[in-house]
Amino acid sequence: MWYYPPNGYFSAGFAVVPGSKPRIRKCFIPKYLFTCKMWSNFHTHAGYCDGKGTIVEYLETCRRVGVRHIGFTSHAPIPFPCKWCMKQESFPVYLDDIREAKKAFPDIEVYRGLEVDFIPGVITMSDFASKLDFTVGSIHFVDSFEGKYWEVDNTRDIFEEGLEKIFNNDIRKAIGAYYARTREMVLTDPPDIVGHMDKIKINSLGTLFEEDEPWYIAEIDETLKAISESKAIVEVNTRGLYKKRSETTYPSPWILDRIREMRIPITLNSDSHHPDELIKEFDSAYPILSDIGFKAISVLKNGTWTSVPLTEYGK
Ligand SMILES: [Zn+2]
Ligand SMILES: [Zn+2]
Repeated sequence: MWYYPPNGYFSAGFAVVPGSKPRIRKCFIPKYLFTCKMWSNFHTHAGYCDGKGTIVEYLETCRRVGVRHIGFTSHAPIPFPCKWCMKQESFPVYLDDIREAKKAFPDIEVYRGLEVDFIPGVITMSDFASKLDFTVGSIHFVDSFEGKYWEVDNTRDIFEEGLEKIFNNDIRKAIGAYYARTREMVLTDPPDIVGHMDKIKINSLGTLFEEDEPWYIAEIDETLKAISESKAIVEVNTRGLYKKRSETTYPSPWILDRIREMRIPITLNSDSHHPDELIKEFDSAYPILSDIGFKAISVLKNGTWTSVPLTEYGK
């Protein structure tokens, strides 16, 4: 009988398995051992929020594709109804499940994190940070109308409703409020990683504003200055690329160019919501970062954020 290697493994011949009745067994070796790839990802959603898949399924995928450092970042519980957030009662289960799964994967560094929204007076990093290894701080909500928080990266209809009802269709004010909230987050309670920094562009770029307008560049510059002071890491997030919601990474390459000039540290994340998305579009993000001139990225390694070389093979 012939055994085919599972997806992601090479066949490496036969081995004799000792025992009272020695048996011959087919050997399989994971492909990543031969590719020299060593990716990391510190923005991943498993099935505790709107993500899919278990922690174990994610870690099996890590072995297959060569991710050696992973941080789980379900959407943090939020004190109002939210379809895509983790339920408060799931939080201890989530922490336990990560702790348990880690034991079976000693070859992978596994970290406990959350993607935490920042809404002043409602939710912030320090509500959770003491129980975690790191936090991703993201702005999904800006201001509110009719008793609901305005979700800027939801559908175009929701975006346009909030834009009209809160900001009287003034896109400069709306985007200004988004970046002002980002600055307040990093200056008052900074996360380890700033999540999808310019995601507000998905419902407005090209139709309501252009990135080369001076007011927009000024917002970005002021925000990068605040991030630089806070010492937070900016993630290069590939989700917009593979979900076809953005033609470029978050943030856009011209912003990454400024980030490199300012020596703000970066890391490369996919914001996966399924194990299959774990390193999606990393291969296309690499040349973007390399062309801009990045030589290193930050990886949580042995419990410390460490600058490691960005190479053609990951990091
Ligand atoms: Zn997010
Ligand atoms: Zn996310």
